[in-house]
Amino acid sequence: MGILDFIFPKRCINCKKLGDYLCPNCFSYLSFDNRSFCMICKKQSENGLTHKLCKDKYTIDGCFSALKYNYMAKKMIFQFKNKPYLTDLQNFLTELFYESLIQNEGFIELVKRRNWVFVASPLSKEIFRKRGYNQAEILARSLGKKLKIQTIDINKINRTFRNVFIVDDVVKTGRTLQKASNDLKRRGSRRVYGLILAGS
Ligand SMILES: [Zn+2]
Ligand SMILES: [Zn+2]
Repeated sequence: MGILDFIFPKRCINCKKLGDYLCPNCFSYLSFDNRSFCMICKKQSENGLTHKLCKDKYTIDGCFSALKYNYMAKKMIFQFKNKPYLTDLQNFLTELFYESLIQNEGFIELVKRRNWVFVASPLSKEIFRKRGYNQAEILARSLGKKLKIQTIDINKINRTFRNVFIVDDVVKTGRTLQKASNDLKRRGSRRVYGLILAGS
């Protein structure tokens, strides 16, 4: 627990009840029942794989998400983006991310079979300058620690790192992920998947 957690006591981000970042009642509005979909056509696909017909050489191979991007997930991630110094909130989100992923058989199979590295989904230069940090990088590093996967600067990826997960907090259109996948594959990554905390 960091010193700032004492200065800012934990309150439910939705109903403001003291105690935790999400009280049990508000927690029940989170949806882990996340349908797997293809990043390109957005239609259902097994294990979040990109359909063969939707793919070319540089297309992202698939995407896993932990939560549905609903009202409650949105509120929670908004707090995280604006108060990254709350280490308990970071830990709470990492825990949700982790718990949901390790119950996803497709993800576990993939992770077991090969060596992977994490990169954070890139932020535009303007936003990074304004915010001073990349929230996706915070998530990548903390999730990486739990899964024992190293997080590497996306600009340092070359063909020695063949399999890459791009970690992000929220994905709506998937355009940023697809662009990052394209760059990574052109630089020699063999497999590129998205790993997102909340997806719509
Ligand atoms: Zn609440
Ligand atoms: Zn598709």
